[in-house]
Formats: sequence, structure tokens, C-alpha cells
Amino acid sequence: MKMESITSLDQQYVAGTYGRFPVELVSGKGSVLTASDGKTYIDLGSGIGVTSFGIADEVWTQAVTAQIGKLQHTSNLYYTAPCARLAQALCEKTGMKKVFFSNSGAEANECAIKAARKYAAEKKGAACSTILTLEGSFHGRTLTTLAATGQEKFHTLFQPLTPGFACVPANDVQALAAAVNRVNPAGILLECVQGEGGVVPLTAEFITAAAKLAAENDIPLMIDEVQTGNGRTGSLYAYMQFGIQPDIVSTAKGLGGGLPIGATLLGEKVQSVLGPGNHGSTFGGNPVCCAGALSILNRLDDSLMAQVREKSDYIFSQLTGAPGVESVTGMGLMIGIKPVKPAKEVVMACLEQGVLCLTAKDKVRLLPALNIPMELLTQAVDVLKAACAQGIA
Ligand SMILES: *Cc1c(COP(=O)(O)O)cnc(C)c1O
Repeated sequence: MKMESITSLDQQYVAGTYGRFPVELVSGKGSVLTASDGKTYIDLGSGIGVTSFGIADEVWTQAVTAQIGKLQHTSNLYYTAPCARLAQALCEKTGMKKVFFSNSGAEANECAIKAARKYAAEKKGAACSTILTLEGSFHGRTLTTLAATGQEKFHTLFQPLTPGFACVPANDVQALAAAVNRVNPAGILLECVQGEGGVVPLTAEFITAAAKLAAENDIPLMIDEVQTGNGRTGSLYAYMQFGIQPDIVSTAKGLGGGLPIGATLLGEKVQSVLGPGNHGSTFGGNPVCCAGALSILNRLDDSLMAQVREKSDYIFSQLTGAPGVESVTGMGLMIGIKPVKPAKEVVMACLEQGVLCLTAKDKVRLLPALNIPMELLTQAVDVLKAACAQGIA
């Protein structure tokens, strides 16, 4: 089928929730994607930080296909090895104690919120239910995770959202401390780098202050690592760069390498809070998704993390202060570039030149595969640099 007809079929039958680029992708290898017209693209978006080792990665494909040929689904009524082994690996690598598996980032956050609420209800009473979140945050699209999301534009016309959330300014320690005193929260939820909010890193001062406030007041500290997790920021999880130990970590996106999986990691404080019947998921812990995720997790070692940081340094050094670039922010291979021109214009110019980038608010956002070859990265950065500079005096 021709590209035009797929485009019109999609526009006719798929709910119009996405603004798509005029590209129909058909295949790929690593960080190179091929469109239906034969044009190839260097991928700096990896499906929004999902395909951690690129497209059709051999190790991941082998792990997934071996499992799919044996047992593709069982329900959570039975034990399976990939689920148990993945939970073990996640706990051993983080010091967390238990894992609940779901299918997406929003669901991972829903579980985090339920765990925090139940901990607080049992320990402090049902009135202690408010979760503190930050302005500019993004935690998902369900009505509850939208309520947690500190961006009004996502809330309009979907009221009433789930009650029990209060939003404080990011990086404002005093405001957070005041809110803790005022609302007696059941949890504090934050992203170390706000992704959808514009690739805005929180300050180390704020993150450590939040951890301290949480510990002093017996409030579960919940870190949303849906986007920042799984090697994306140059450490297994972003919180690890701040010397804190969260009580709850939610993750998804890059964990699955391209199959849907969410995970909520429960630390010592809340490890026993969820019991039989308190939570569940039909697909959660699916053996194929878990086998793929385990193969990803096993490869996120120190040497790969050093490469992620090296490639990050390269991007920062090439683009910081470059013509047409106002700022470069982020951590590891999660990078936001604020161009002088509208970000969308830069992204369209890159697309024209065979490079796929993302946006986040007014930034061009880069989330390349963690193993993107240096040769492709330098080519793509040259294109991006030229797109930012073009037409700028
Ligand atoms: C993408 C994202 C989510 C939502 O994940 P879904 O898989 O789309 O539900 C939640 N939190 C953060 C920080 C994200 O980046």
C-alpha cells in the first residue's frame, strides 16, 4: 500500500489524538529507520525513549522470540521465570525489595500512588491522602496520573480529575517544606529530570531536600523514572546520581526495549503494603515483555553507562553556545535543546534531512538509543546544528 493510502486510512480510522509526522515507517536496524518510500532516517527519538538498544537489536530479539515461542502469556495465577528473574534483577540492582509489574508508565505511577496512599492510610489515617507533585511534571494520561501532572493544559475539559493531589513549584525547597507542613502528604512524587515538561533537571539541592523531608516525616518518596530510568541519564536510574534511596520507583518506557511493560519498585518502607487483592493486572508481568526487559537490564552495565555519558558530553559540547541554540539541558542521553527558532521548525528541517528528533514544550528533545554508534550520532548532530543555525543572523 502506498504511503498516501496509509496516511488517509489512519486519518479516517485512528482516533485523532496524535499529530503525526508525514512518514510511514516500515523497518529499521539499530538507530536507522526505513520509511515506506525507501528513505532512511537516523533515529534520535527511539520511540520516545523506548527502544533502548535500537530497532531489531539481536540480543533483545533473541530473548523475546525465544520466549514467545514457548509461552506468550499465562495470567498472574501462575509462576513464570521471566517475571521472577526480572523482579530479582530490578531489586538486586537498586536495593528495592518488591516489584509490581504493569504495562505502561501511567500504570506504574498508579501503583506507586496506591502504595503510598495505603501506607499513609494504615500508618497515619485515611485523611492523610494527598500526593505532592511538582509544577511542570508529567506522570501519565489516566485521570489519576493527569491529576498528578502539574501542567494545567492537560487538565482542561477532563474535570473532575482524581482528588488528592497538590502541586508545588519545582526546585523550591521552601515551598515544598511549607506544603509538607500544610497538607500532611501521603507521598512526594517527582521526576529527577522533567521530560515532557521540557527536559528540565531538578537541582541536586531540591532532590536531596525532598528526600530528607520525606524521611523525617515518614512520607514515601516516589521517583518517576518512566523516562529517566533504565540507563537513559547515564546511570541505571537517575536518582542514583543524587545519593538518595527512594521508597517507590516507577519505570516503563526503555525498560521493555519496545514491548509494553511498567514496573513499580517498592522499597523497605512500603514493601509489604500491597497484599492479595490490593492491586493487579491481566497482562502485567507478561513473560515475553519480562524476557525482553531482562535482556535490556542485564546490558545496562558500567561500561555502557560510561558510553552514554561520553555521547552526552559530545552532544552538549557540540550544541551549547552553537548558532541558533539558546540552551542545552538534560542528563545523559535525555537532552533538551532550546533553539532560537520554534522547536517544531527545527524538527521538521531535521526530518527533511533524514534525522528524527522529538520536541518537549519549546525544546527539541533527543532520546537516542543508548548504543547509537558515534558515527551516526556525529552525522545527526551536524544536521541538527545546521537546522538550528539556518537563517539565524
Ligand atoms: C511517558 C511518561 C509517563 C507515561 O507513560 P505511558 O507509558 O505513556 O503511560 C509517565 N511519567 C513520565 C515521566 C513519562 O515520561
